[in-house]
Amino acid sequence: MGNTDRHRDPRRDGSHLLCFGRGCGPSIGADRRSARPAQRKAKAVILGSAAGGGFPQWNCRCPNCALAWDGDPRVVSRTQSSLAATGDGESWILLSASPDLPQQLRTTPKLWPREPGRHSPITAVVLTNADIDHVAGLLSLRERQPFRLIALAPVHAALRQNPIFGVLADEVVERVTVAPTELAEAAGLQIELFPVAGKAPLYLEGADPLIGSEAGETAGVALVGPTGKLAYVPGCAHLHPALLEKLREADLLLFDGTVFTDDEMSAAGVGAKTGRRMGHIPIAGEGGSLAALAGLPAKRKIFVHINNTNPILVEGSPERRAVEEAGFEVARDGMELAL
Ligand SMILES: [Zn+2]
Ligand SMILES: [Zn+2]
Repeated sequence: MGNTDRHRDPRRDGSHLLCFGRGCGPSIGADRRSARPAQRKAKAVILGSAAGGGFPQWNCRCPNCALAWDGDPRVVSRTQSSLAATGDGESWILLSASPDLPQQLRTTPKLWPREPGRHSPITAVVLTNADIDHVAGLLSLRERQPFRLIALAPVHAALRQNPIFGVLADEVVERVTVAPTELAEAAGLQIELFPVAGKAPLYLEGADPLIGSEAGETAGVALVGPTGKLAYVPGCAHLHPALLEKLREADLLLFDGTVFTDDEMSAAGVGAKTGRRMGHIPIAGEGGSLAALAGLPAKRKIFVHINNTNPILVEGSPERRAVEEAGFEVARDGMELAL
């Protein structure tokens, strides 16, 4: 969809609350009284803002992790990447199921059971890829609680290949395969998954993995709430014009902030792979996300999925100041966003 969709009549969609454009609030073609409560209820919560390994990482004493282990006030610890969202304030969806999910749920009262016996307000989990840091939390959702598991076909196939995910019994957990750009609905939100450049999960890579594949191993998610659209892209190897056009629709953009520079891991002495080899475009430099996303009209642009080596984690660092001066925020666990 392009700009032409921004200010279409929301009633065309059969709901006077549904509105797609920035600044296109309930006062435009909508009933103010009924729209206001929905507006207040629709929100997203960043459950985890770190990349795989979290921050600090259990076995790491890179310069950033050393600050965190030593309690330096310029850094705060972060759990692995996940987002919770609701359109109706009652039921919630998770975007990614991080290995830190149990900890994230315990610190987020909105996601606690509300009824006697077994209950959860979580009605769906949406997966952006099958990497361990995005799916391992599913194993903590195995107590025969019904929910829908929504993903593109390659991600479902990766889970089916691994028998441990059979603990999510088919008669309890409905696996919903959506096609790219097909709309699903859950928790009062419209959900769209769109392929972005990525790669197969590390454990399925094989000898010669295709980096930058757009076959659906990696997806971004667009959520449409009562007053706006959120785009969540925690992993992206390359920003090409078609994807940038897609991201122009977003009022809130949460984008891959894994590494600041492509060779950051090797420079810190903690790994040989570049960011791009891991399926993550760097923030800085030629072809980096900071320059590519600069022209997008989103009201808020927030880096998520931040690796523990990334200097934007350190408040006051030159890299942190550079992204803030360019109008970007750095996600923290527990950050709430009106949707
Ligand atoms: Zn990840
Ligand atoms: Zn580290």
